[in-house]
Amino acid sequence: MSPNAIKVLYRLHKAGYKAYLVGGGVRDLLLGLAPKDFDIATNATPEQIKRLFRNCRLVGRRFRLAHILFGREVIEVATLRGHHSDGDNKTAKANNSGRLLRDNVYGTIDQDAERRDFTVNALYYDISDFSVRSYGGGLKDLQSRTLRLIGDPEQRYKEDPVRMLRAVRFATKLGMTIDAATLAPIKKLSPLLSDIPAARLHEEVLKLFFHGHANSNLDMLHQLGLFKSLMPVIDGAIAENKNHITARMTYKVMQATDDRINADKSVTTAFFYAALFWYPLTRRAEDISNESGLSRYDAYLAAMGDVLEQQCRCVAVPRRHTALTKDIWQLQLRLERSTNGRAFKLFELPKFRAAYDLLLMRAELEGERTQTLANWWREFVDGDENSRKALIKRSDKGSKPRRRRPRRNTKPKLSKQG
Ligand code: ATP
Ligand code: MG
Repeated sequence: MSPNAIKVLYRLHKAGYKAYLVGGGVRDLLLGLAPKDFDIATNATPEQIKRLFRNCRLVGRRFRLAHILFGREVIEVATLRGHHSDGDNKTAKANNSGRLLRDNVYGTIDQDAERRDFTVNALYYDISDFSVRSYGGGLKDLQSRTLRLIGDPEQRYKEDPVRMLRAVRFATKLGMTIDAATLAPIKKLSPLLSDIPAARLHEEVLKLFFHGHANSNLDMLHQLGLFKSLMPVIDGAIAENKNHITARMTYKVMQATDDRINADKSVTTAFFYAALFWYPLTRRAEDISNESGLSRYDAYLAAMGDVLEQQCRCVAVPRRHTALTKDIWQLQLRLERSTNGRAFKLFELPKFRAAYDLLLMRAELEGERTQTLANWWREFVDGDENSRKALIKRSDKGSKPRRRRPRRNTKPKLSKQG
């Protein structure tokens, strides 16, 4: 267990407050897994928490809580929540479909437990007597590996539709079966996800696809109608035909992401989107080029904007990532034109590796032309200085002599008809 989390628990306890480790931290420790983060619940209010810790920041509007900062580790401390209906307009607010917009009514541990999402997430480790308190049969469900929503499933999904995504994520991550009543309403309620702010969905997408279970999450999300709200274009391709090149690329990206995570290698948001949306991009670029007669390069530039803008309406990927996605895409075009002396320059670019990786993936899905191109670059990348120069020399000889473009200042010859 995180020593910092223990410090926070004891500081609260010694100041006379109740202090519990709660949620995923307890659940994962009991399952023998390493928790991703440690969340603490207390009966101290955010202001009282702030007075106890110098390294404390209060965050959140919908759900106000304290972040205690220890270098790069953040321990989240939330005040025990009460029933939403006990609040006034200042502390509690919901929209027409029941989604909670403000959620700051404080209460007891029993009330707090009722408002958590799944029974296995309503486990509290009490620092005052080292006991684990379980609500709604959480410990039993943990043993039988059953994922069960607390309360009426339909109402709980309406309060917060993201719980549908969480159900999928926990089922695959923890190898749990979603209880029938918890599973049943998801398909019908899946469109509610489109109500969720796109920035929050970005966070959820990262949790779904960057933690080693991307492949199984994709399958389940698609089957339950949830993927449609996250990536409509890709979901459409999968629904149409699993052999659709976009669908095949999607499964390849998910598998590659899982493999990298499981091998402790890094994954980047920019590459993930660049690979997923490469074929929607090429298609859009072709359309633009046919409609407008723009050059191939300009058509791609316009298409990049279109494709990303459309996707970001569902899931708001921050600009710092999409800028790099565009770099990776532009490099696909440059890789085609640079099997010559320019190769050395390209090779030095920071995004070269990502672009090269995408080219290799494309080669497994596309025809001979892309395979030849990928083989050329593989030979270049794997070679040393001398073999690279030899490769370029060979390619220069092999390529047809290029026709010179007419110089700008030469007057066009008048044809007889003209
Ligand atoms: P992990 O950290 O592995 O993603 P977790 O269960 O710790 O899983 P967090 O998002 O860290 O998930 O949330 C901590 C706890 O807060 C959860 O265990 C749950 O009790 C509660 N919680 C989080 N999100 C919701 C939600 N949308 N609705 C109800 N309770 C929630
Ligand atoms: Mg957590």
